[in-house]
Amino acid sequence: MTDRYAVIGNPIAQSKSPLIHGQFAATHGQDMVYEAIEGPLEGFADAVRAFIAAGGRGMNVTAPFKLQAYEMADTLSERARQAGAVNTLKFEGGRIAADNFDGIGLVNDLQRNLGMALSGCRVLMLGAGGAARGALRPLLEQGPAELVIANRHPEKAEALARPYAASHGVRGISYAEIGRQRFDLVVNATSASLRGELPPVPATAFSPEGLAYELAYGKGLTPFLRLAQNAGVSHLADGVGMLIEQAAEGFAWWRGVRPETGPVIRRMTVPLV
Ligand code: NDP
Repeated sequence: MTDRYAVIGNPIAQSKSPLIHGQFAATHGQDMVYEAIEGPLEGFADAVRAFIAAGGRGMNVTAPFKLQAYEMADTLSERARQAGAVNTLKFEGGRIAADNFDGIGLVNDLQRNLGMALSGCRVLMLGAGGAARGALRPLLEQGPAELVIANRHPEKAEALARPYAASHGVRGISYAEIGRQRFDLVVNATSASLRGELPPVPATAFSPEGLAYELAYGKGLTPFLRLAQNAGVSHLADGVGMLIEQAAEGFAWWRGVRPETGPVIRRMTVPLV
């Protein structure tokens, strides 16, 4: 019987997940269908249960439901627990298992696809929302020399950094406190680019030989990437690789097959112009 999977979010029309999983399934001969479900803002749990009752095997979860998915899970991976949010569900034996592959997707894209050695590098992460929270632990596991989180509301950056301050020296600061510090990797984990806005990061924070990474994807040269380019950074990337790498982790968890990501990334990449 054909297995059913879906992505749930609101809105959902913009989601690339059906395309990505459809391509993984076709390439690896998996008998499955993958659909997009617009979850009602007041009825997320009911929508998930209805999908399970209809034979659903797993779901990807996107905004604004990642915290609700965390709350309704029967079992949580260590990653999901640390992120406090869930982006993938698996339904088995009447139970809901949950994981969060966003952070590992970012790390895999940086290291495997973009050739960035995170060990020993100086990282500045902009933003302290859900994506930053999911990325923090997987980034730290790679052994960066320094990791600084800057946020508009610095108290959120401080709260995110606090559990890792003593063990990893992570600092949460305001944009003003970035000062003249320079980083090998600057990750824009704010949602500013979704509205064409620029987080107030100084151009001096970028190293020309470093990497500027934009978590938003498919938007070409965002104000953040343009700032980095003008600062002399030649190595620019958006989050399409992260999106596809996290999808691959979820697919492997569901199907027991680790799909090849390169062809899908090449197909979905929008030029950074
Ligand atoms: P959240 O809403 O949880 O967090 C938003 C963050 O952005 C907050 O830290 C907020 O700061 C900051 N922010 C918003 N606007 C501005 C601005 N104009 N200037 C400075 N800071 C700003 O969003 P998410 O963490 O869920 O998503 C962040 C980004 O990551 C989005 O672009 C999203 O599309 C992308 N993403 C990409 C994924 C991928 O696979 N490539 C996966 C998940 C997310 P404050 O706290 O001060 O309000």
